[in-house]
Amino acid sequence: MLMCNEGVIEGERRHGEVEMEFAHANRVATMGRLSASIAHEVSQPIAAAVANAYAALRFLAADPPDLVEARLALGRIVKDGRRASDVIGRIHDLVKKAPPRQEGVAINAAVLDALGVTRGEVAKNGVAVKTQLAEHLPIIQGDRVQLEQVILNLIVNAVEAMSGTGEGPRDLQITTAKCGANSVLVAVRDSGPGMSSASLDRAFEAFYTTKSGGLGMGLSICRSIIDAHGGRLWASANTPHGAIFQFILPVDPGRGS
Ligand code: ADP
Repeated sequence: MLMCNEGVIEGERRHGEVEMEFAHANRVATMGRLSASIAHEVSQPIAAAVANAYAALRFLAADPPDLVEARLALGRIVKDGRRASDVIGRIHDLVKKAPPRQEGVAINAAVLDALGVTRGEVAKNGVAVKTQLAEHLPIIQGDRVQLEQVILNLIVNAVEAMSGTGEGPRDLQITTAKCGANSVLVAVRDSGPGMSSASLDRAFEAFYTTKSGGLGMGLSICRSIIDAHGGRLWASANTPHGAIFQFILPVDPGRGS
């Protein structure tokens, strides 16, 4: 009888784990679909704005210039621009307002999970990974899937940055530390080309990307997630070269850091 109960409990536990994995996969897929639909929704008004701008230039170049038509075309550009920025605003609201789930998150385990997911990419690009994970870190109250998504994004960005460099070591270092009494710090360092000061300023803007196939949504979503957890995410230069992305999370976002 005892054995039977144990079997049921074990079965339930596994069922719960499978459900969690499904939830994880679903939300990651949703984020991917979301990014694709944003790109689609925004590219439409931008294309319209460009077409209207060409039309305005033609009306102004005419002899005599057709100021009435030019003004109408410029009005349409204003409308297109507003539509594009509305789409971005809606997405920001969506990400910000969705209250993160409150569960106990062991940040070191989240780092190791994210490293597990990216192991293939890391190996393929000849990146050496070093971890320095502090012991006895407090458990964070937050959304495990979202926080893992942030770490995953930072790792993928670091690997992509380093895979563009020809010579030199490709080192990825992930550090966790206790920060004051009530916060945890996570730092992702790489030895890639780093970022210009313009890039450092703009990296967290939605749709800012320097990659040919990039969407520029990764860091903007990461920052929204960390903000929603009451934390802070920022970038700086690594020495002698490369980038450092760090975030601080309060143990309990309800109480602040
Ligand atoms: P994407 O990866 O689609 O470009 P992100 O928002 O994740 O979008 O990144 C925005 C930009 O920030 C990148 O295109 C790149 O220029 C810069 N960036 C991000 N991470 C790094 C890094 N580790 N090293 C150098 N540049 C980076």
